[in-house]
Amino acid sequence: MDKNPLMQKRQVDSKKCPECLVYLAPDARECFSCGTRVREADAMGIARRRVNWKAYLYSVVTAAIFGLYLWWAFFKDS
Ligand SMILES: [Zn+2]
Repeated sequence: MDKNPLMQKRQVDSKKCPECLVYLAPDARECFSCGTRVREADAMGIARRRVNWKAYLYSVVTAAIFGLYLWWAFFKDS
């Protein structure tokens, strides 16, 4: 029988926010401190981030507008 505590299944009674590292309840879906949306804890006890599609979409749109601006500013007349 292996008694090594590191090999036993981790008893998850808390998890940490990936952003500000405060302890959260194991079933918390959002960090009460910084507002980061979190998922279940990983093997290190750090909560996984939820994919923030709104922020992702916003960054893609911003990059597209910036690229269009670069094209307009430097390549339009050439
Ligand atoms: Zn946090």
